[in-house]
Amino acid sequence: MSSNNSRTTARISLPAIRHNLDVVRRLCPGAKISGVVKADGYGHGTLHVFKAIGEIVNSFAVATLDEAVSLRRLGFDGEIWVFSGILLDDEVSAFRENRLTPVVHNTHQLKLARSETYDLPIILKIDAGMGRLGFKPDDAEQILLALNSSDSHVMLMGHFSNADVKDSYVTNQELSSFLSVKGGQRCERSIAASAGILSKVGSNLSWVRPGLLLYGVSPFRDCIGQDHGLVPAMTLQSSLIAIRQFKVGDPIGYGGEWICPESMPVGIVGCGYGDGYPRMISRGSCVEVCGEKAPIIGRISMDSMAIDLRGIKKVQLGDSVVMWGQEIPIETVARHASTIPNELLARIPQRVNRIADWQSF
Ligand SMILES: *Cc1c(COP(=O)(O)O)cnc(C)c1O
Repeated sequence: MSSNNSRTTARISLPAIRHNLDVVRRLCPGAKISGVVKADGYGHGTLHVFKAIGEIVNSFAVATLDEAVSLRRLGFDGEIWVFSGILLDDEVSAFRENRLTPVVHNTHQLKLARSETYDLPIILKIDAGMGRLGFKPDDAEQILLALNSSDSHVMLMGHFSNADVKDSYVTNQELSSFLSVKGGQRCERSIAASAGILSKVGSNLSWVRPGLLLYGVSPFRDCIGQDHGLVPAMTLQSSLIAIRQFKVGDPIGYGGEWICPESMPVGIVGCGYGDGYPRMISRGSCVEVCGEKAPIIGRISMDSMAIDLRGIKKVQLGDSVVMWGQEIPIETVARHASTIPNELLARIPQRVNRIADWQSF
């Protein structure tokens, strides 16, 4: 057992990320792709995503200025979109120095982005129905009119509120509302994220902005990435740090909630909620060990969890255990934890090492 594996690690397949980008390209040929790497590349490590596809994406998108500056420092030379835009007056210089493209949500941000000799492109955010950030379509028209005489570097961006529900009329309404902005046809436009790309709503505009898809994850509740031809980029793995024999009636873990129904072997895995595994997980959820599924038993601890080893043959101390990856879809784990894969990925803490894997799958 290598010391690398004894604790929880996230193995990141760079070929999987490249493959997933290819899938996106095939789904929307002609569209340029802005790879979304906010929240440290959805927990995969921005560096790994940059290494995998930095030379083949048309731009990257992040949520915050700090994320953008880190990405620039990694050596990415292309366009970087910053979703939250310029929030403070004194951030303008950082945007200029790092050649960042701010998304603009309101008139104050617009003023900042057009102050002094600021000549970087901007992205006008349109609120097409999400009710979060952006200009109403009518207001955007006025702004475009005012800008157009002096400025050609303006893109329009919208975001669907309900695209993860297939065939939602809300999504079509939001698309029409986005496309209704007068003068918008002259600009580059972008509205589709992963769900829009898969359902081909708004994915024929100049740009698409996939996050989840790059990581091999499905945005739809009843699907997994493999259903769309994607490959999961992350394998969250740990190892068996103990194998113990218990007797009938023995309680396992905090609260003694799980009682051994017979004499049986129990494995302790070196991964807990302190490693990003959800503590609130429904009974019957499994991990993979020795190519088999083993049910989790008892409560998840901060640094470990217990698994039922009955039926797992030839299992040994130190054996690798997979919490999610190819065989255990993260979509399933998320459903069992009443959440979405995005949240699980964004919550993987620092202490979990992200290791790049160059082997093809
Ligand atoms: C997070 C985000 C995306 C990517 O969404 P996915 O569903 O992961 O593809 C795209 N656009 C905006 C504005 C976002 O905040």
